[in-house]
Amino acid sequence: MDTKREPVTPYMRMAVMGRDEHVCVYCGTTEEESKLQIDHAIPVSKGGRSNFENLVTCCQHCNYWKGNRTVEEWDADEQKLHDRSLFTALLERIKKRSKNKKPRKKKS
Ligand SMILES: [Zn+2]
Repeated sequence: MDTKREPVTPYMRMAVMGRDEHVCVYCGTTEEESKLQIDHAIPVSKGGRSNFENLVTCCQHCNYWKGNRTVEEWDADEQKLHDRSLFTALLERIKKRSKNKKPRKKKS
């Protein structure tokens, strides 16, 4: 199996951040674009691809805490620690966003 990490192109990064309105999808924080990161909702190590559906905008803090887990695994871990409604709502939001918005074609 090819486990090589696919690069996230600058265009993909821009498209994902645009879709997510430059807001961390996990905690809702707004950061300067330079401080925001692109996270794989399903980690590459677990078969996640570097495509528009699997990439989300997140802040450094959330990227750090989520680490190498899927959103579901992260959610399950967090549920052991906290009250869960926040993360359930978050998952709904990510799923909706992936469905509703597509990247715009780059103007040449
Ligand atoms: Zn965050």
